[in-house]
Amino acid sequence: MKFGGSSVSSAARMREVADLILSFPEETPVVVLSAMGKTTNNLLLAGEKAVSCGAPKASEINELAVIKELHLRTIDELGLDSSIVSGFLDELEQLLKGVAMMKELTLRTRDYLVSFGECMSTRIFAAYLNKLGKKARQYDAFDLGFITTDDFTNADILEATYPAVAKRLHGDWIDDPAIPIVTGFLGKGWKSCAVTTLGRGGSDLTATTIGKALGLREIQVWKDVDGVLTCDPNIYANAVPVPYLTFDEAAELAYFGAQVLHPQSMRPAREGGIPVRVKNSYNRHAPGTVITKTRDMRKSILTSIVLKSNITMLDIVSTRMLGQYGFLAKVFSIFEDLGISVDSVATSEVSISLTLDPSKLWSRELIQQELDHVVEELEKIAVVHLLQHRSIISLIGNVQRSSLILEKAFNVLRRNGVNVQMISQGASKVNISLVVNDSEAKQCVQALHSAFFENGFLSEVEEADLAQNGVPVLVSSNGAINGN
Ligand code: ASP
Ligand code: MG
Repeated sequence: MKFGGSSVSSAARMREVADLILSFPEETPVVVLSAMGKTTNNLLLAGEKAVSCGAPKASEINELAVIKELHLRTIDELGLDSSIVSGFLDELEQLLKGVAMMKELTLRTRDYLVSFGECMSTRIFAAYLNKLGKKARQYDAFDLGFITTDDFTNADILEATYPAVAKRLHGDWIDDPAIPIVTGFLGKGWKSCAVTTLGRGGSDLTATTIGKALGLREIQVWKDVDGVLTCDPNIYANAVPVPYLTFDEAAELAYFGAQVLHPQSMRPAREGGIPVRVKNSYNRHAPGTVITKTRDMRKSILTSIVLKSNITMLDIVSTRMLGQYGFLAKVFSIFEDLGISVDSVATSEVSISLTLDPSKLWSRELIQQELDHVVEELEKIAVVHLLQHRSIISLIGNVQRSSLILEKAFNVLRRNGVNVQMISQGASKVNISLVVNDSEAKQCVQALHSAFFENGFLSEVEEADLAQNGVPVLVSSNGAINGN
């Protein structure tokens, strides 16, 4: 059972989560926690401020005060002893002073700095469960066997993690049974032996990794929304929960910007064949979303609409003549050399349109210079247009119905006077990506959502299908036919 930051943001929320766990007395869950509330953001901000504020001012950084206040108040309200976190809070202050003195914050230090959030939330929660008489044991993932690459701020979990985690948790359970309370998001670099993090939202991946390591029956990811939704409720309030998803669909949703799950987190679940249930800790009786390998796609057309804004798009047209081989290879080797990741691609023999992921660019410095450099390199072989302020709208749906989805989608967009600037149907085929202007994107999502989900479209199609062929077939979302 993984609980995100907002599920454990206060003493009241921790009580609620403890109550939730205890309401399944027949289960012995492994619990994974994020940092409390906005603590990760606050730690990152504090680190950034420390770089430039000068050592004497480091203790006065506002975010440090907010973090201290939150953790000490929570401990007090839960009737626990402040010694649980006081060592961490002191060390955190020292660390910020150190950053202020050095005037630099390396990625490695940044990971160490943010690790305080999960280290404290799990200690508080484990102490609280113990106080309630439910035996719990706190674990730091970096001591539990989470071995990762040394890519600080975005580390990958290595295979050795699975047996190591299983051995440790099994062994401890046999010696002295207690509910494990594990820090999400963290690992240990295999060469550096330093604390690493798995990328923002990485606690989901911690949870699915433990699920696979132990071969658990189910992985539950508790959030503050009623599961995976048909679109971002901040863009359009009529979004509704999606009851069932496949791992492929969920991964595609996450990659294309749905905030609800960490993009890598579906992999261990898929490999282990373990269902993932996304639930709302603020509304525990809502059914949520169940994610499995295959599902009944008979009635499924469109599953969800995802928007990723502020995308950069490149339009690249070869200056050579038709029939020249190696053009695509050259273009992509330029991206490879510059270490820039490409998202969606549409291509003909002499031209390529592609989009660049903003988050992957923004985590780096010199963004504009880098872009200029890409364009400069590409201009040696092509005419290049750099188009900024674009959005990708991704339609995640049933591959067997792609023509129907496209027909409907283009109809809606035409009626709204929107011209699509690029279209790409992902290799996984459950995803159709459309590029439009940022300024039109939200309105497009709303119009598409009402057309697909709100005006009886699905039941219309269903009736038409039944009238046409009578017996539907059962297909998985990747297009494999599973019998009838
Ligand atoms: N606390 C980390 C973050 O905010 C990890 C997580 O919440 O999953 O990104
Ligand atoms: Mg978080």
